[in-house]
Amino acid sequence: MVRLFAYLFDLIVAFFLARLVNRALRQFFGGPQSRFGGPGKRARAERAPEREAVRGEMARDPVCGMFVSTELSHRLNQGGQTLHFCSQECLERYQRSEAQRSGTTG
Ligand SMILES: [Zn+2]
Repeated sequence: MVRLFAYLFDLIVAFFLARLVNRALRQFFGGPQSRFGGPGKRARAERAPEREAVRGEMARDPVCGMFVSTELSHRLNQGGQTLHFCSQECLERYQRSEAQRSGTTG
């Protein structure tokens, strides 16, 4: 049984040694600019906070085609159906286009 532990320990030591050697080799040959690094490392830190706020069902804004959460949307009841808009602007635009379609001559 002790042999097994010794073997495992050996593996771990070898692993760390390999890492050290690998790093030393990379520094020796590649210098500070490695092939994998690239210039854009800071972009990873940025998050997307807007996505987390979306809850509930998603509905499609008929004006701009965007999907909006039914909890956050601007709603309009029409013929027993609820329409969802991403913004007040889209809602008003929809109302205007509806008024044009059914109201005045044309
Ligand atoms: Zn919209």
